[in-house]
Amino acid sequence: MTRARAEREQALTTVRRGIFQCRKCRLGAGRHHAVPGEGPPGAQVMFVGEAPGAREDASGRPFCGRAGVYLDRMLALAELDRGAVFITGSVKCRPPGNREPRRDELATCREAWLKRQLELVAPGLVVTLGGVGLAQVAGPDHTLAEVRGSLIHADGRPVLPTYHPAAGMRFPRVARAMEQDFETLRRLLAAGLPRDR
Ligand code: SF4
Repeated sequence: MTRARAEREQALTTVRRGIFQCRKCRLGAGRHHAVPGEGPPGAQVMFVGEAPGAREDASGRPFCGRAGVYLDRMLALAELDRGAVFITGSVKCRPPGNREPRRDELATCREAWLKRQLELVAPGLVVTLGGVGLAQVAGPDHTLAEVRGSLIHADGRPVLPTYHPAAGMRFPRVARAMEQDFETLRRLLAAGLPRDR
């Protein structure tokens, strides 16, 4: 392992510890476990979802319920192994009753943690899962309906927006679109991504 990579791994561990302690927004008060996300520094692809659900809150791991099984199927379509990608959420603590994270919670968590994770992982491509993840990574100027499945850029990084796996599980139309998007991801990876290592 290079020294730079070891330093990034150490910094990601520090971020992880910080998330476990964090009470910067109201979501910190109601969680069982914060869910920082997981994956290697230098992962080629980073996935940003929405928020932990009940299973994630209980385990501290991202996408570990049925939506996680679905996501694994999509990863296989893109010929990606879960251990090779970094997966996190827009907020790291479960909103009560599985409500959507509020604007101030999203802003606080983005500034405190997500931006730093993006810097440290430095993925060649970010895949956003759902509208909340898209807005968290690329700002409010895009709607998922407009940009889904297309490559856009945010803060100089390529971003591929797709739907959230929970929607893919429920709606056949969304499932078909997600399969197309993960096929697009496979092709992008096969063609070689610009990488900021
Ligand atoms: S959601 Fe993010 S900002 Fe809010 S308490 Fe959890 S880790 Fe901290």
